[in-house]
Amino acid sequence: MKIAFIGLGNMGGGMAANLVKAGHEVAAFDVSEAARARAAEQGCTPFPTIGAALAGAEAVITMLPNGAIVRTVYTDDVLRVVAPGTVLIDSSTIDLDTARSVIQMAAEAGCVMVDAPVSGGVAAAAAGTLTFMVGGTDAGFARAAPVLEPMAKAVIRAGESGAGQIAKMCNNMLLAIHMIGTCEALKLAERAGLDPQTFYEISSRSTGSCWSLDAYTPMPGVGAASPADNGYAGGFASALMLKDLRLAMAGAAGAGANVALGEHATALYEAFVEQGGGAKDFGAIFTTL
Ligand code: NAD
Repeated sequence: MKIAFIGLGNMGGGMAANLVKAGHEVAAFDVSEAARARAAEQGCTPFPTIGAALAGAEAVITMLPNGAIVRTVYTDDVLRVVAPGTVLIDSSTIDLDTARSVIQMAAEAGCVMVDAPVSGGVAAAAAGTLTFMVGGTDAGFARAAPVLEPMAKAVIRAGESGAGQIAKMCNNMLLAIHMIGTCEALKLAERAGLDPQTFYEISSRSTGSCWSLDAYTPMPGVGAASPADNGYAGGFASALMLKDLRLAMAGAAGAGANVALGEHATALYEAFVEQGGGAKDFGAIFTTL
């Protein structure tokens, strides 16, 4: 299949490489020349313009920083170039309103489009073990799923258009809340006189168990290996968590949902990023306690 891949950054670079490994012809475009060069090393065919990359594509995947860029790329380029019937997949994490409105425009242009944000970070993108949460029609999902498979551990249909973004914002809001709660519990255990490692052994096998505690323990030297053991380098940047929390807060406002803990988590990550913590893994919120 000829697949145009737009946005070859930390996530998109690895994803495009896995499509090449699966035998697809990947026409790659990124505004960054360095990103295009890296994609070429992985077997993609780089193009200097987006229009050239899109020409003749049977499927298009976008993995871009935010909703404003996604909207511009689709309205200015993708929807002007691709043939009706092309399957369009946006895997960026963006706001629900933009996701739904771009999908609507794609449908009016005769294309099949799904929102398919991912869970799993840069390592999962490189390993081809992302979880895709897909919003779209039955027919859209049936067309998109085989394209996503080589990059995925799981491809799950979340529901109609936008449902993938809803799943993503709810998941990451929950993750932020779990992470902050895990940090507080580890710190409380230590302050109150319990060895944090002993607390980890008990709680990871008790009802306090959660991914942040069990598999990504945010206290250096305690529990599972995580970026905490490496000065909070790598992992999932706090600035990206803040981006996702802001999307969740906008989604909650639009849906009239009460997200008191989500709002509090957003305020804590905002303060941490303002203090210069944006590039550190999101478990580094531990250091503020
Ligand atoms: P990134 O900044 O590394 O990559 C984005 C790429 O898009 C860059 O290479 C940039 O040059 C390119 N780009 C920007 N504008 C463009 C345009 N108009 N046309 C073509 N290319 C353009 O970001 P990332 O970490 O790869 O994240 C991409 C998306 O995936 C984001 O929406 C992010 O929220 C989401 N996401 C990231 C992670 C993660 O751990 N990094 C995890 C899950 C989801």
